[in-house]
Amino acid sequence: MQKSKHHHYIEVLAKRILPDDMEASVIQQEFHRLEAGFAGENRLKQTLSDYYFKTDRHIFYNFECINENGFSHQMDAILVTPLFIVIFEVKLLSGTLFYKPAQHEFYRIHNEKRENFRNPLDQVYRHQLFLEQCLRKWQITIPMCFAVVIANQQAILDESLEKFPIFHISGVPNFIESLYRNTAKTNANMRMIVAKLNQLHQVLPPRRSISMNRLRRGVLCRQCDYKNTMSYYYGAFVCNVCQAKSRDAIFETLYHYRILFGDKISNREFRDFFGMVNIKTCSSILSRLGFEKCGSKRGTYYIIPENILFWSKKKTL
Ligand SMILES: [Zn+2]
Repeated sequence: MQKSKHHHYIEVLAKRILPDDMEASVIQQEFHRLEAGFAGENRLKQTLSDYYFKTDRHIFYNFECINENGFSHQMDAILVTPLFIVIFEVKLLSGTLFYKPAQHEFYRIHNEKRENFRNPLDQVYRHQLFLEQCLRKWQITIPMCFAVVIANQQAILDESLEKFPIFHISGVPNFIESLYRNTAKTNANMRMIVAKLNQLHQVLPPRRSISMNRLRRGVLCRQCDYKNTMSYYYGAFVCNVCQAKSRDAIFETLYHYRILFGDKISNREFRDFFGMVNIKTCSSILSRLGFEKCGSKRGTYYIIPENILFWSKKKTL
């Protein structure tokens, strides 16, 4: 399972945002929401992997794309079979969930507090309307439906939700069985649908950006849960608090930079982000890394490779 680019971005930002920043707690909350969502999607994946499908099938997880109006769609999972398509929306909500259908109002009561939510039924129905229109354009006829799946057992679904396709994750096999039983045979070309969806799929960029002055600089110590910084000392970074020594913390820091600001980094940006002052030391670190070098003189920059996090296994400074 792949996390979205936005998820990676918020994950790094949660480690890097200055603790007294106005948005610090909003970002931490968003990070926890994304982690919970990802855990939920993984549970759906496990459930679907354990199910015996009666036909061939293809499942897309975290399907992202942009529609003709320029708006984005993020679908947790799309199940394609030769007989039907199902769009799954996974929620990890706790408390008791209620629905007022006429008003399209979705809310929960948790710890005696009432809280309104973005309606997940409407959210996933919007995806369905979009995909139906795509299929019409592709001249493919196949039944489509959606389901909202609740991924934590502790959640209580009120009776007001009874008539709607929303249920606990353990109900997924039953739901698919009944689709197999009740769907009339079509002769849709599943390979074609999968190919078209693959064309439509697009990795979306993070939904926000940040300026460097709102971030904590430096190499952060993993041992200290990223709370303390490390100093460069003879080829390695040493934690200023716990004294842990790391030869690969630099790769993680470069990964943070790449996620937040992109793959180009100049000597100046390197010093700025790493909180180091010595130009010569930084130049020698950058050249020893052996990154692809572009531009010349003051316009020189380096390209941080995509797999920088995995460099720690093969390279030391
Ligand atoms: Zn430390």
